[in-house]
Amino acid sequence: MIHPRTELREVDPVIGSGVFATALIPRGTIVWATDPLDRYLTVADVKALPPRVALDLVRHTWMTREGRFVLAWDNSRFVNHSCSPNCLATEFGFEIAVREILPGEEMTNDYANLGLQRDEHFHCARGEHGCRGEVHYPDGARLRHAWAAQIAGTLPVVSQVQQPLDFLLSSDVREKLRMGVKVRERKRVPRFEPLRQAALAID
Ligand SMILES: [Zn+2]
Repeated sequence: MIHPRTELREVDPVIGSGVFATALIPRGTIVWATDPLDRYLTVADVKALPPRVALDLVRHTWMTREGRFVLAWDNSRFVNHSCSPNCLATEFGFEIAVREILPGEEMTNDYANLGLQRDEHFHCARGEHGCRGEVHYPDGARLRHAWAAQIAGTLPVVSQVQQPLDFLLSSDVREKLRMGVKVRERKRVPRFEPLRQAALAID
């Protein structure tokens, strides 16, 4: 579930829709947490879908470290990529704001942080400071230390800011946050070229 103080807006005709903050979201805020309506699909699940449905699904999902496709049921599936993201995925089933997000600011994540496929790459047209231009699978390995450091630096303030999505956290996760867990870096996701190639072969 996406943070309640967000809405879907058009970014521009090229990028399409994106998710924007409607109020100030402090650093350390949980901006998305998994909930019972999210679908976790295996490779076999996706392969069983009609190809066009599989293509749409791949575009709007991200991958867990176990290699499952996560289909969020709400606007969170429209969060766009940025090479300088203000949100990052943790290993605890939630994403956090790694810096303050101003009202009207777009909420972004680095898609390489969300499990790109080995054969997956795309052009990033944002051109922000630090924009990599081309986003590739190897970016995940190169940047995971920096992301882990950002998340580790942000987790201690999670308990100091309002958390509208707090009700979605399990008691286990709450306890880990309370005890000050160490952040593991995201493992590389499994190879999955066949589906990707099949999906992208669709006109
Ligand atoms: Zn970029």
